[in-house]
Amino acid sequence: MRLFRARIWSQTAKIIRAWMIWVALLDVLTLTVNILILPSAIAYRMILPAAIIPPVAMAVVLLWRKPQAPSVQAASLIAGMFLILLSVALVGVSAGGEFYERHLNIMLFVAITGIIIFGVPLAWTATIAAMALGLYLAFQLRNPAIDLGSAVAATLFFASGIFATVAARRIITILAQKTFLFELRDRRRVAELAEANDRLAFLASTDPLTGIANRRWMTETLNRIWGADTRCLGGAAMLMCDIDYFKKLNDHLGHAQGDRCLVEVAKIIQDNIRRDCDLVARYGGEEFLVLLPGVNEDEAYSVGERIRKGVEAAAIRHPGSSVSRRVTLSIGVAVQTGDEAISPEKLQGMADEALYRAKQAGRNRVLLYGQEPAEHKSVG
Ligand code: GH3
Ligand code: MG
Ligand code: MG
Repeated sequence: MRLFRARIWSQTAKIIRAWMIWVALLDVLTLTVNILILPSAIAYRMILPAAIIPPVAMAVVLLWRKPQAPSVQAASLIAGMFLILLSVALVGVSAGGEFYERHLNIMLFVAITGIIIFGVPLAWTATIAAMALGLYLAFQLRNPAIDLGSAVAATLFFASGIFATVAARRIITILAQKTFLFELRDRRRVAELAEANDRLAFLASTDPLTGIANRRWMTETLNRIWGADTRCLGGAAMLMCDIDYFKKLNDHLGHAQGDRCLVEVAKIIQDNIRRDCDLVARYGGEEFLVLLPGVNEDEAYSVGERIRKGVEAAAIRHPGSSVSRRVTLSIGVAVQTGDEAISPEKLQGMADEALYRAKQAGRNRVLLYGQEPAEHKSVG
């Protein structure tokens, strides 16, 4: 209800302000016409009561320009309506004669338009309706032209009409509230769907074991970068990292230990690259592909060395390895300089080729594509 009120407030306030201005203008206009066409004795008696409306209407307009406390809003609207309805009735009462009853009817008409178009709480609407009928009855009882029975009968007749108007207003409000609830429900469903979508997208692009990106994500990202970012085409390196004799680690220590090793190696790779621009993905069982945008051969090689040494330094047990007692990595590096345009597949093929040669040359080493393997440097 609070959200609904907040949502419709500006519209309700606008309608109330417009209605007040309309009533004030109509009041001034009819008074002017009356002064022009009616005998001056009658017209002058109308001026004072008619003069109540414009300042009252303007006061309500001012109060309804900004949200106020509900009590202030209710008090200003109800008091304003009372004075306006009283003024309309008094114009007829002071003029007397045929104007007496006519203006009481006009007063009810004015009340009905307000009841129908003001989207305010039922209690406020009912109060306005009761005020209008109360004023009508009070003035009809003092109407010298009709007797008591006629006054009560006319009031009851108009009361049924006013009641129908209040009921109609209530139905309009309930329908608006229903629409608002449906809107809230739809909004929540859309938010839930978006959340589910985000979660699916995350699952589809992440390797569940290591928590880093998977091959699908890497392929899509490479294609996107190569398609859009010319900065990357100006220079980038790929590192294909592969754990040495990983199958034997599984065979000796079991798959659970193999899994732990994969998690640890993924973390070491992540720790040795730039978080803001380098990319890493688990590309195969025990293979990790790293993309280093904007680096040259020397920089790419030293990142590879840093990763290799990091894994070696972690001293993860590997009794089955023929290279060392610890887990080691072989890394193939391929670099695309700014001069040539190489597709990501081709660059990856070059990194694969360098990796193959690093394996051939004894593993636990970093090798640049197209470079001869150096002497074996590290035996653990
Ligand atoms: P090389 O030194 O030539 O790279 O030999 P390798 O044994 O590391 O390579 P190979 O391709 O022969 O074996 C890879 C092994 O990785 C085989 C597979 O059982 C294991 N593997 C793949 N995915 C997982 C995984 O998610 N968890 C575990 N524990 N093992 C995996
Ligand atoms: Mg492999
Ligand atoms: Mg391997």
